[in-house]
Amino acid sequence: MKQQEKEILFQIRDLRTWFPITKGSFKKVVGHVKAVDGVSLDVYRGETLGVVGESGCGKSTLGKSIMMLEKPTGGQSLFRYGNDFKDVTKFSREEMFQFRCKVQMVFQDPYSALNPQKKIYTSFEEPLIVHGIKSQQEREELMSRALRMVNIQPDYLMRYPHEFSGGQRQRLCIARALEVMPEVLVCDEPVSALDVSIQAQVLNLMKDIQKELRLTYIFIAHDLSVVQYMSDRIAVMYLGKVVELADSRALYDDPMHPYTRALLSAIPVPDIHNPKKRQVLEGEVPSPIRKPTGCAFHNRCPHCTERCKTEDPPLRAKAGDETHLVACHLYDAAVSS
Ligand code: SF4
Repeated sequence: MKQQEKEILFQIRDLRTWFPITKGSFKKVVGHVKAVDGVSLDVYRGETLGVVGESGCGKSTLGKSIMMLEKPTGGQSLFRYGNDFKDVTKFSREEMFQFRCKVQMVFQDPYSALNPQKKIYTSFEEPLIVHGIKSQQEREELMSRALRMVNIQPDYLMRYPHEFSGGQRQRLCIARALEVMPEVLVCDEPVSALDVSIQAQVLNLMKDIQKELRLTYIFIAHDLSVVQYMSDRIAVMYLGKVVELADSRALYDDPMHPYTRALLSAIPVPDIHNPKKRQVLEGEVPSPIRKPTGCAFHNRCPHCTERCKTEDPPLRAKAGDETHLVACHLYDAAVSS
């Protein structure tokens, strides 16, 4: 399917989430941590958009900003309602309430996501009560349906979280997100706290559920193999910005940005006869409080030029391939203007 034919669900435009740094008893703002700093991308219905990058690149904050768990400092996050788009950053309390039914989040740690003092029944029932499902019978039907989707028997509702394994708990968290019948799941490192053998189980289950419900996933992870397995498209983030965005296959076969190339070279290949040459990046990751001028990657980039130190490259499409976007001066001749 061509990109224009797909239905855009989210249009994120120049989204910024900065956290103020305060000093003294009057809490004078002396700077900002620019966790998300001008992210623009579209999310299509039914796809999995992977978001990767090293720790501190802003991928989790981006997920929380899309969910409005962190209020963005600027920019727009436009969500589709029928043929129109509404800016979620300007939503009233009531509108936000409705929006949270459509977009749910699955968190990294299934151990802290469920209240250990409450039975699963209570943890599952609360969101339905909050979202106005008044009839207990209807609530129980929705809870049972969600549990069956993640292959857990509905009578386990009367158990406590400690009676489940890590994989089962994460499946419970997915079920709790599904019970309000959302359109989008923002998954923040959903399998990184699990054993490798269990990870595959949960990922396959998520794929099956996506196909059945035509869900859209925003899948945030640092494990590049997991992201490749799950994603249709991938956004690579560095210091709060998207530096490359492409179809999963194109990104892994033909990475353009020097940072993406270095990241991908770190994936271990189980072939002793054809070992992959690892590209080790020199220099420190700059602080998001004092970001370098020009391209934020310039102090670690092996191709850095004088221009890179002063001019921030915009994210632009590769010439002849509007689906592959890159932010790097190396490709100035090869990108659409
Ligand atoms: Fe490297 Fe310059 Fe490209 Fe930045 S813009 S990634 S410093 S070549």
